[in-house]
Amino acid sequence: MKRFSGFNLIGEAFRSHQGWPEHWPDKAPKASYDAIIVGAGGHGLGAAYYLAKKYGITNVAVIEKGWLGGGNTGRNTTIIRSNYLYDESAHLYDHAVKLWDGLSQDLNYNIMYSKRGVLMLAHNVHDVQSFKRHIHANRLNGVDNEWLTPEECKAYCPPIDISPRTRHPVLGGALQRRGGTARHDSVAWGYARAASALGVDIIQNCAVTGIRRGADGAIEGVETERGFIASRRVGVSAAGSTSLVMKMAGLDFPLESYPLQALVSEPVKPIFPCVVMSNTVHAYMSQSDKGELVIGAGTDQYTSYSQRGAFHIVEHTLAAICEIFPIFTRMRMLRTWGGIVDVTPDRSPILGKTPVKGLYVNCGWGTGGFKATPGAGDLLAYTMAHDEPHKINAPYNLDRFRNGRLIDEAAAAAVAH
Ligand SMILES: Cc1cc2nc3c(=O)[nH]c(=O)nc-3n(C[C@H](O)[C@H](O)[C@H](O)COP(=O)(O)OP(=O)(O)OC[C@H]3O[C@@H](n4cnc5c(N)ncnc54)[C@H](O)[C@@H]3O)c2cc1C
Repeated sequence: MKRFSGFNLIGEAFRSHQGWPEHWPDKAPKASYDAIIVGAGGHGLGAAYYLAKKYGITNVAVIEKGWLGGGNTGRNTTIIRSNYLYDESAHLYDHAVKLWDGLSQDLNYNIMYSKRGVLMLAHNVHDVQSFKRHIHANRLNGVDNEWLTPEECKAYCPPIDISPRTRHPVLGGALQRRGGTARHDSVAWGYARAASALGVDIIQNCAVTGIRRGADGAIEGVETERGFIASRRVGVSAAGSTSLVMKMAGLDFPLESYPLQALVSEPVKPIFPCVVMSNTVHAYMSQSDKGELVIGAGTDQYTSYSQRGAFHIVEHTLAAICEIFPIFTRMRMLRTWGGIVDVTPDRSPILGKTPVKGLYVNCGWGTGGFKATPGAGDLLAYTMAHDEPHKINAPYNLDRFRNGRLIDEAAAAAVAH
């Protein structure tokens, strides 16, 4: 792999940048691997990278049914934060936020992590009490979060309307300054390039169609569109399609898959300095480096694998955006798209071992797994390398839906982005 460095950039400038090698080669599958990851989203590619880098397991294949990063990784609104209520969640998401910090250097790839702050607006007394509780809980866990008055919200993000006449008046906000955004495609590309340089095979356009188990029930490998590939260790990181893949191994998973939409406006000059979320009216927004306002909506109310959402959801979101930011009322929207998110009953992920020996899973991130990408990859790799979960992901086991030890962020926040 030729490193991106000032020296190499200058050298390449003299020959029209013709000397850069391809980021990763498209590989044909081998007959067997030490480990297989199903799904080349950020989480799966991250797991492959950390397996190779931290644990020396380099004979690894990442198998992707479409193109790398074409799932939720390339479709999300890229909000990064770790100000979740429960201790388990704060540990999990802050593990990821700490990794985001040095990721560009680690991967030698600019993932454009921008710590511009995530401001969550409070519109009623319940919001105020709930956010203040979050702030106290976060601080006890060493996670930054602070309360802003309406005037301080306005000073931090001038387009917000804080006049008391609106239907959803701004009563204050919780600000996590370390929160922000990163460039989603770069995250997938950076992990793919770095993993490939360590020997990982990335196999695209090759759907996993079956999971083969031996007489003892343990994993033997995966059936794919390009034939059988043997491995005693398979990690499934297939987001919205997880329950379909786990069914191939004979496992029922407590997941529902919903369409989730996002949209962008026409590009404008820099006007929106941070990320603003409004859970009560269910709308959130940031501005991309291209100048587009990036807007997120809620999930559809019905389950589906359609990768596109219902129009009335977008309409509802834009009505809320226009109310909180009247300055944007005359903006035109350019594109809208959808992904399929995998949602658990408590809105927290499942990350660990399964009842099938050699089969591991990372799923249930629902509407909020982009922020966890480096952490999820790291912890899936740890779990696969040790055949035991790390203490951070140990609570995120499948058994919690039997023994009732839920991590109920849905009840805590009513939104999970
Ligand atoms: C519109 C939208 C907005 C969002 N906004 C945010 C946000 O602001 N912040 C945040 O933190 N999160 C957000 N999310 C959630 C976030 O995108 C996901 O939780 C995260 O990207 C999941 O990453 P992943 O790598 O697990 O999944 P994916 O990127 O979806 O990767 C899974 C891969 O598995 C592949 N696959 C599936 N089945 C098979 C098979 N049988 N064989 C081979 N491959 C298979 C898929 O093709 C896919 O590429 C959003 C999601 C959407 C849709």
